[in-house]
Amino acid sequence: MVETEMIEYRLNGPSSQNRQRIRLMAALRENRFPQAILIDGPVGIGKKALAMEIAKALQCSAGESRPCGHCFGCKMAADAGNTDGWVVPMESKESSARSASDVSAGSTAKTIQDYKQAYIEEIVKNPYRIDVFSAAAGITVDLIRNMTAGFALKGDRVRTIIVAEADRMNDSAANAFLKTLEEVPPDTYFILTTSSRERLLQTIRSRCLALHLLPLTDDEVREIAVEYAHDDYDESAVTDDVVGLSVGSPGKAMYYAQHASAWLDLSARFVNLSLSGDYTDLFFDLEDAGIEDAAVANRFLEVVSFLLADMARGMAGAPLRIADTTAKVDTSRYPQIDANAVDLALVDVQETMSRIASRRTSPRVCIQALAVKLFEGAK
Ligand SMILES: [Zn+2]
Repeated sequence: MVETEMIEYRLNGPSSQNRQRIRLMAALRENRFPQAILIDGPVGIGKKALAMEIAKALQCSAGESRPCGHCFGCKMAADAGNTDGWVVPMESKESSARSASDVSAGSTAKTIQDYKQAYIEEIVKNPYRIDVFSAAAGITVDLIRNMTAGFALKGDRVRTIIVAEADRMNDSAANAFLKTLEEVPPDTYFILTTSSRERLLQTIRSRCLALHLLPLTDDEVREIAVEYAHDDYDESAVTDDVVGLSVGSPGKAMYYAQHASAWLDLSARFVNLSLSGDYTDLFFDLEDAGIEDAAVANRFLEVVSFLLADMARGMAGAPLRIADTTAKVDTSRYPQIDANAVDLALVDVQETMSRIASRRTSPRVCIQALAVKLFEGAK
């Protein structure tokens, strides 16, 4: 069709992800956009942000430049009330709630759509956030059926469905979704996002165009984290060390902006007090920090890993990622601590993180044992 060739597409996003977007824009322009695409990449780098841009571009009905941002299709793509456009992981009590179509008029019971809308609102407000879904939230077969039930209502417009954190589908959900992918209804597009591609069924992966999204530059991370600064954290919390910790992920930078200033200090104290053998002080500090939850404990140990890795970089004369925090560790009193000792300490931290993740021992006990073991023989 001559008309389609005139339409230009413009997907917005950070320039270090240009290459991936150019590929998508060419497919849109040439009218060969795949019916299912799988966007993967590290957490918090903007996979959902890109998915929303794509949904807008596909649904837009403007004649020359898409997405226009103000037609019906564009507005639907950005409207959290359009719950048919999403599949999101949910808590089991939420995903087993009744559907809006099954609830009698005047009922005040919360429906699947109510719960879903609350999640979508959070994503639309800030698609980079890494703490929208709890660890227990998953995609059940009920949620997939809820999505396919909506297919009957289709008019003649293009429909897009974003499946957020698609790796959280359980087995029956994945099988039901696979059936849908085997016969995608006309003018329907699926956009899946995941940071754990390997956890998705191979048969689902093979039916999607793979799009690997790359981490952003430090400057882009800083810019986005500052742009979203609001009630949760202050602009000034986006320090160089916070950006350094986030390794190209604005979502992680936002998370660390809320939590890391305490954790950065604590990680420096952790190494210093462990070296000097002041375990009692250290155990009190850890207790005050309230690190009881496994996921939180491991995010703290991630910060400790960064600090140790920086000590190794310092010894090798390489640039530091969290220079301000690393400067607080005084190794001058411990000449025995060389690159080899730091490498061993990093292995100890990794082992502790695995122990905590296995949830067999309390995170606090694991971290206390780590403090005693760290730099064993070199202190
Ligand atoms: Zn539009």
